[in-house]
Amino acid sequence: MAVVAMQEILANAFRERYGVGAFNIVDWVTMDAVLAAADLTRSPVIVQVSVKTVKVMGARVIQKMFEEMAARVSVPTALHLDHCPDRAIIEECIAAGWNSVLFDASKLSYEDNMVQTNAVVELAHRQGVAVEGELEAVKGVEDGVGDEYGSAVVALDKAVAFIRETGIDSFAPAIGTAHGLYKGTPRINFDRVSEIVAAEPIPLVVHGGTGLSDETFRELIRRGAPKVNISTQLKITFADSFREYLAQKPTEYDPLKLLGAVKKNLIAKVSEFMKIFGSEGKAA
Ligand SMILES: [Zn+2]
Repeated sequence: MAVVAMQEILANAFRERYGVGAFNIVDWVTMDAVLAAADLTRSPVIVQVSVKTVKVMGARVIQKMFEEMAARVSVPTALHLDHCPDRAIIEECIAAGWNSVLFDASKLSYEDNMVQTNAVVELAHRQGVAVEGELEAVKGVEDGVGDEYGSAVVALDKAVAFIRETGIDSFAPAIGTAHGLYKGTPRINFDRVSEIVAAEPIPLVVHGGTGLSDETFRELIRRGAPKVNISTQLKITFADSFREYLAQKPTEYDPLKLLGAVKKNLIAKVSEFMKIFGSEGKAA
């Protein structure tokens, strides 16, 4: 067991009400660290990649690297494309063997979003690939996608109709979370999670996980949002580890030692999240 369908990873977590971290990787060090942390804590895990990173590394390179690295661990894992408004890149990732994609049509009208998401789901499901859907833009910019305002919340019946008619596998609602770093304490709309799940039992997704309290994570997961996205914190840990190592060893020129120090800190940070989310020990 290594690479597993996203549908299965999320269905198990949704049923048992634990969270699965979806950690944004940017290179082999971050991917290796995320998988190592999952193996260490016996957690299912989602390796998540932004469009920006896909443009730098290439969809096929990332998929091949994931396949090789995932084979070295014995926990369920899936490769997921984060916020992607570009259907050509979605198609490229599906063709390259990725397991899941987030088609982000939140900038489109409700009707256009519905039509286009339908088309993406039809293509993806033919290849066994899962689709995360999004109606309302999440506040904040992440790797060049989004803006600081987000978008208005859609009425519950329209959100539920969107889920039902598109056949998406998971749904990312606007619940008051934001990408990047929070400036104050975010006001989280927990009831929105409960209302959607009560109307349509589908795994929901928490975007903007960095900076939320342990209690907020647990409450969102308990109410039916098992996929928890973490991106910003990994960037911070990566850059801070780099800086600290160089400050301590200004004459060390071996990049592998430097990256080794970064990886060690990333493993520790990712493992912490897995314990908070309750995924520890859930890898059957
Ligand atoms: Zn996001």
